[in-house]
Amino acid sequence: MITASHVVKTYTAPDGTPVRALDDVSLNVDRGQIFGVLGQSGAGKSTLIRTLNLLERPDSGTVTINGEELTALSDNELRAARRRIGMVFQHFNLLGSRTARGNVELALEVAGMAAAERRRRSDEILDLVGLGSRAESYPAQLSGGQKQRVGIARALAAKPAVLLSDEATSALDPETTASILDLIKGISTELGLTVLLITHEMDVVKRICDGVALIEDGRILEQGGLVDLVSTP
Ligand code: ADP
Ligand code: ADP
Repeated sequence: MITASHVVKTYTAPDGTPVRALDDVSLNVDRGQIFGVLGQSGAGKSTLIRTLNLLERPDSGTVTINGEELTALSDNELRAARRRIGMVFQHFNLLGSRTARGNVELALEVAGMAAAERRRRSDEILDLVGLGSRAESYPAQLSGGQKQRVGIARALAAKPAVLLSDEATSALDPETTASILDLIKGISTELGLTVLLITHEMDVVKRICDGVALIEDGRILEQGGLVDLVSTP
């Protein structure tokens, strides 16, 4: 469902030296899987996620999502393809001027959906994430966990085949983290949604992932099932 093949991405540091943020990265995530990419700060996780949704074009290598080779698309085609990829962010990225429902509707406006249908779909998806009663609330009136529920609802509103999560629980306390991870797991199971998440926290991987890759200095060290890679002390 998500395949990266020999992806290379190099940046130029301010002093002119090249930084290989991704160095021949290949990975494969099956349909319905929750796959974790685990690594420390600077390992290349954000670059990986930006490359997977083609916010950044890799120098070389290919990215294929849901059978579509994104690296072969034009910028215009990519804009449409990206709407089929749900994104969840560490700092939620909600618009403060819009209600929870308004934030979810925004993703559907971008996709060109009619107003009545947008509202119906937004309320349906807010119910799914357990926020049906807060549709009229503004982000400032919501807790961190509630904001992330809105973020997840927005990401899922347009029914993407895959969800990419960029440290979605890193700004949350442990209890809220657990509830958000359980929500993602429940939705993945219910909808058959494929999830790739990046995290620096082993506990996140242990709680919901059924596959994992370890990334360090832009390289995938190992990838496989949890039992192979994550020892439980
Ligand atoms: P992580 O998300 O795991 O913390 P990043 O993907 O942000 O890691 O960064 C990987 C490497 O690429 C780091 O060495 C970082 O300094 C470098 N890097 C990331 N973005 C840029 C950029 N826009 N310009 C230059 N170097 C960058
Ligand atoms: P465009 O580039 O077509 O103007 P953007 O990509 O800037 O649209 O998206 C506008 C808003 O919709 C942003 O707040 C973004 O977070 C949200 N959005 C767009 N696509 C998605 C998606 N697939 N999943 C979740 N939110 C999305």
